[in-house]
Amino acid sequence: MKKGMNFEVDSPYQLAGDQPITIKELTDSVLNIFTFLENKYLGFKDQEINHKFRLWQYEHSAKQIQYILALTGILYIMIGISNLFLAPEYLKNILIPYQLLIIPSYLFLISYLAYKKIYIQIVEGLLISSPIIAASCHAYIFSQMDIYSTYQVEFYLMIFWIFTISGLRFIKAIIAALSVFSIGAIYPYISYANQYNEYFSHTIWMTTSLLFGLVGGFLLHQSKKDTFEKELELQKLVTIDSLTGLHNRVKLDSILAQELDRAKRYKHNVGVLVLDIDYFKNVNDMHGHLIGDEILIAIAKNIQENIRSSDYIFRWGGEEFIVICLEVNKTDITTFAEEIRSKVSQQEFAKVGYKTISIGATINNTEDTVKSILQRADEALYEAKENGRDKVRYK
Ligand code: GH3
Ligand code: MG
Ligand code: MG
Repeated sequence: MKKGMNFEVDSPYQLAGDQPITIKELTDSVLNIFTFLENKYLGFKDQEINHKFRLWQYEHSAKQIQYILALTGILYIMIGISNLFLAPEYLKNILIPYQLLIIPSYLFLISYLAYKKIYIQIVEGLLISSPIIAASCHAYIFSQMDIYSTYQVEFYLMIFWIFTISGLRFIKAIIAALSVFSIGAIYPYISYANQYNEYFSHTIWMTTSLLFGLVGGFLLHQSKKDTFEKELELQKLVTIDSLTGLHNRVKLDSILAQELDRAKRYKHNVGVLVLDIDYFKNVNDMHGHLIGDEILIAIAKNIQENIRSSDYIFRWGGEEFIVICLEVNKTDITTFAEEIRSKVSQQEFAKVGYKTISIGATINNTEDTVKSILQRADEALYEAKENGRDKVRYK
């Protein structure tokens, strides 16, 4: 990720140090301040979840931005065409290029970039600037009119548009709306200094729009946050095994597929271990299921503590686990499996005593699929069982 888009920020004070500040650092620090405020007041306590939430919002707003911006562009063109007939002659020269050319092209560009999802961060930058540019052009045009115009309505609509339908994240919407509000408040004050009544009612309408927009935007933000939270919970329910807290086979399939793919591309090895507790049924039969559960949890913990941080562990089924290790060869993986086997065999359980595990090990070949590599490791496990259990076998 580009430095400028680094959202893992805890504090806005990023400019400490003696080095002169570059423009990029300045932009980064402004971005960081917004991120900081967003995380602190609108996000979650956990920074990693905040980061995920931002990406989730990008993903979910891309289509909305694509459609809404295209629609807004089309509406500008329609208004521009009607103004070819309706606008006063002296305004046409500036009104027509603005409504028919400048704003629609800008909006269509953003819509196109939102369609190409990879540009989503650029899209956000352009999106936030689009109402500000439109408001500036608008302010300039109406400052050329000699009477206070009813067309001010565009400002109220813009503020609403920003908060509720543009697809901008709430914090960015606040920035855009406040900018539009300031432009909309300052220019008529300069241009129509002597029309106090009109100016007053215009400002009231703008403030009303801003307040409704803020409330609407906030509620929308809260409901997005709720949906995201529920989605996270559901994801957890589907992919985490509730007994051991390990990832389950749903996650195994997707991670193993991804690692096999990566291994093929970068030409490195993926190792797979299938671990199965020996004679586990006896534990249940002799001591009951609850004790069996405790032992399952303890063995899972033991294995987890003995793998590297880059390895993955899953509960595959009843008393079977899978470990995926990256960048290992045959010797590495068998030594590693031996270590795990030995550690588990030394673990003592109250009442039950000692339990052993058997392990089947393998590493990937270029033809492997998720199914074929798991099958080979399972065959190796079968050999370990056949050879007396408490063994490691490689295939
Ligand atoms: P082997 O050495 O051949 O693996 O023998 P085993 O007894 O371990 O194998 P088997 O597949 O016959 O039995 C596995 C047992 O694991 C059966 C089942 O009661 C138990 N089991 C599976 N899931 C759980 C669980 O979540 N909790 C408990 N307590 N037992 C479980
Ligand atoms: Mg077993
Ligand atoms: Mg089994």
